[in-house]
Amino acid sequence: MPGDVCFSRTSESRTRPFLFFMTVSPANHDQDSPLAPGLYLVATPIGNLEDITLRALRVLRSADRIACEDTRQTQKLLNHFGIQTPTISYHLHNEGSRAEELLAQLQEGSRIAVVSDAGTPGISDPGHELVTAAIAAGIAVFPIPGANAAINALIASGLSTESFTFHGFLPAKEGQRRTVLEQLARDGATHIFYEAPHRILDTLSDLQTTFGAAQHVAIGRELTKLHEEFLRGPVSELRSQLAARAVVRGEIVLLFSPAQNDAGPTTRSIAADVAALMQSESLSEKDALKRVARERGIGKSEAYRELQREQNRLR
Ligand code: SAM
Repeated sequence: MPGDVCFSRTSESRTRPFLFFMTVSPANHDQDSPLAPGLYLVATPIGNLEDITLRALRVLRSADRIACEDTRQTQKLLNHFGIQTPTISYHLHNEGSRAEELLAQLQEGSRIAVVSDAGTPGISDPGHELVTAAIAAGIAVFPIPGANAAINALIASGLSTESFTFHGFLPAKEGQRRTVLEQLARDGATHIFYEAPHRILDTLSDLQTTFGAAQHVAIGRELTKLHEEFLRGPVSELRSQLAARAVVRGEIVLLFSPAQNDAGPTTRSIAADVAALMQSESLSEKDALKRVARERGIGKSEAYRELQREQNRLR
């Protein structure tokens, strides 16, 4: 029922009045309830400080410790909100050893909050290892929802939200990136990637080669920040638009949904084209490859690398 509350001694989310249908109950004394022991995964803003939730602030204030990806970065947030909870570093390079230490404290009944530099911990950020260790040790794990770049880019992208896959970052190396793109499902689902600004042009080129110049793409840049921007359109146009800028800056989410029946220019394999030319025009493999490269508008070495990738995939 609206305004109903339910209580339990075991779960943090149930030790407090629980609001249904977004009603604000006068019986909501959240800020007075002590935090239950356990691991709290606290989402923090991805740009706009107003995106911190009341619950996140309460948890950060009441926790025994905050494990931070970068203590200096989080300290700015804590200072802004006048929070004095002690912090400890928990990042990619000490995830394993720090997880053990934090787990020991959790087993003694501590309330530990985990935050990343921005957004939701565990999403292309540290957190997962500690979560699995806590679960295995029977410790309660509480998600404290909030900002996430992928989901916010998705909901404003105009692309299908019905079915989507979040892939994190694409590989930095071109060959590996192309392989990932080529293997994406073409089932109408939206694919979401994080991308660095200095790689976005190369990635768009790879996308164009893989799915064709008309492939519709959405880019969410600097979400929730002063210079928030959405670009939506054919990959070739977005690439030209960004290439015309002196420099592409900021944080980027890239989204697209390869059309189900979109054959794309490179679904025909280079190996098949080369073999066809060798047979029909009695060309050597080298000359056939040269011709295929020319017809596809790519360099000989790129065509050769692509041929090798195709052969590796068949092995
Ligand atoms: N855990 C974070 C989250 O929940 O979104 C993501 C952390 S990941 C290390 C950082 C990447 O997320 C950035 O390189 C960018 O691709 C994306 N990102 C983070 N903040 C963003 C923003 N404000 N606008 C666009 N993309 C953002």
